[in-house]
Amino acid sequence: MINFNVPPYTGKEIDYMKEAIENQKICGDGPFTKKCSEWIEQKTGTAKCLLTTSCTHATELAALLSDIEEGDEVILPSYTFVSTADAFVLRGAKAVFVDIRPDTMNIDETLIEDAITERTKAIAPVHYAGVGCEMDTIMEIANRYHLTVVEDAAQGIMASYKGKALGTFGDYGCFSFHETKNFSMGEGGALLIRDEKNIETAEILREKGTDRSKYYRGQVDKYRWQNYGSSYLPSDMNAAYLYAQLE
Ligand SMILES: *Cc1c(COP(=O)(O)O)cnc(C)c1O
Repeated sequence: MINFNVPPYTGKEIDYMKEAIENQKICGDGPFTKKCSEWIEQKTGTAKCLLTTSCTHATELAALLSDIEEGDEVILPSYTFVSTADAFVLRGAKAVFVDIRPDTMNIDETLIEDAITERTKAIAPVHYAGVGCEMDTIMEIANRYHLTVVEDAAQGIMASYKGKALGTFGDYGCFSFHETKNFSMGEGGALLIRDEKNIETAEILREKGTDRSKYYRGQVDKYRWQNYGSSYLPSDMNAAYLYAQLE
């Protein structure tokens, strides 16, 4: 029998997971989550990395942060995994599919402009198999039409386009640490945020609508409900597994 995939394992995962348990900090945003986020921020140059429970959830966060509403249109490649569409369709948006290029299997950047209408709010390019989309052209179009760009970089961790990390071009970048990916934590992902101004809202959405991230940093005396949100934090045990992978 040939397995579809073998979960990546380097040897140190078990020690780090034991350490997480001994830290008595197995919920989200513990020491290993911090280490992983800082590692990703350093290696990619993104302003902020937030670990999430999956790439699907990172994309959902990006859709919420992009204020995607009923009737909006989002442009994405006709060839991708379901999550790219799910995140936006869940917010009531219409998925507008654009054909791919046969050489890279990525969205054909020359067809994007024709797909733009008055309702278009975002473009979600997917870096298939870690091969970068034509980000210069895509960002130029997005800037001209004032569109948000959410990169599905699920398969693009530590891959680059013209020397810049995938996931750092658009307003938001989404990584996957699913068992089938190159770096893993079982189930998990990350949201990369390009602009500092979007960090606070992202932290609140990820932490059930509260400012708990600020509370942990000692910036407020109590944490309070600020806005709607959900729970997108992975356990620090999973982050411990990921840290061994990243190292
Ligand atoms: C794997 C994958 C996802 C989903 O990742 P999860 O972490 O399982 O949610 C999304 N998009 C692409 C292109 C993928 O390959």
